[in-house]
Amino acid sequence: MTGIDDLPIRDELRGKSPYGAPQLDVPVRLNTNENPYPLPEPLVERIAERVREAARDLNRYPDRDAVQLRTGLAEYLTKSGGYPLGIENVWAANGSNEVIQQLLQTFGGPGRTAIGFEPSYSMHALIARGTGTGWISGPRNEDFTIDLAAAERAIAEHEPDVVFVTTPNNPTGNAVPAETVLALYEAAQAAKPSMVIVDEAYIEFSHGASLLPLLEGRPHLVISRTMSKAFGAAGLRLGYLAAHPAVVDAVQLVRLPYHLSAVTQATALAALEHTDTLLGYVEQLKAERDRLVAELRAIGYEVTESDANFVQFGRFADAHTAWRKILDRGVLVRDNGVPGWLRVSAGTPQENDAFLDAVRQVKKELG
Ligand code: PMP
Repeated sequence: MTGIDDLPIRDELRGKSPYGAPQLDVPVRLNTNENPYPLPEPLVERIAERVREAARDLNRYPDRDAVQLRTGLAEYLTKSGGYPLGIENVWAANGSNEVIQQLLQTFGGPGRTAIGFEPSYSMHALIARGTGTGWISGPRNEDFTIDLAAAERAIAEHEPDVVFVTTPNNPTGNAVPAETVLALYEAAQAAKPSMVIVDEAYIEFSHGASLLPLLEGRPHLVISRTMSKAFGAAGLRLGYLAAHPAVVDAVQLVRLPYHLSAVTQATALAALEHTDTLLGYVEQLKAERDRLVAELRAIGYEVTESDANFVQFGRFADAHTAWRKILDRGVLVRDNGVPGWLRVSAGTPQENDAFLDAVRQVKKELG
């Protein structure tokens, strides 16, 4: 029998496993930071209408430059971010994972390196590996904030080509202050200069503002966003970035022609028409997130400050045992491999109640 290792795959892929959270069929799934609310029916109707229109042209390739969609995204960012952006500042792809892949294909690659401050979104390191970019694991403090002095030293020492900052950070939930991002940008410019990618996948859930205004006068800064979380459309696969127009021009060099299907573009445009309704769910989720933080603390858990739609809680002598015990009670949370900690996504009030009941019992059992 031929297995992966019998194939002439690249050495750095040997013995590795693909990314993926367990997709288990349990009553309450709070493990992948999805939005628990299905799209509202009027939006489902609008998607059907727009997709029907797009279907009439499916014999043709889609708009390669996604002009209408990028214009809509620029309007959304301008309105919500308080900083004027046009189509020339915005690029879209199949999920922010693809945005990040295109950025690493453009600014990383063989002989180049990227740094991230871990624990953070593990796909940054995996996409680095997939694009042949060397990965440097930067430090964090005990409370999961970025250790700025150590980060600046690491940037000066390694001179990475790409610096990742995730705010709010996944899986820890905490936001990174604008001053820290600015200091990292300065350090990155002094060292190389390199690109700084701020991953704002969860920014709509934050107590604070987006870092979009920092784009002013900073052509090496990129802000990455997604419709998977706040827009409740993880299944759509639509991510986007905001940056200097030169960055948008640069990623054209690596994007596949027609990468964004006409169906995807039509669906995303329909979702943008319903922005206000969708962001209404964000407010509910923020309230539920804050309730999870308060109740977990009341039960006796430690909780990392959260600006996202999920909460990191602990500490457990053995996080995996705790994960299993919560799962035995019908609730799937995430063990991200951070020793002592688990992560739970904010669900509907009923799902969160089920989760809180489960962890109350687990606390009694494990202490
Ligand atoms: N960035 C962060 C920090 C994430 O947590 C995720 C999804 N879990 C993504 C990017 C990717 O999201 P998508 O590809 O669905 O846009």
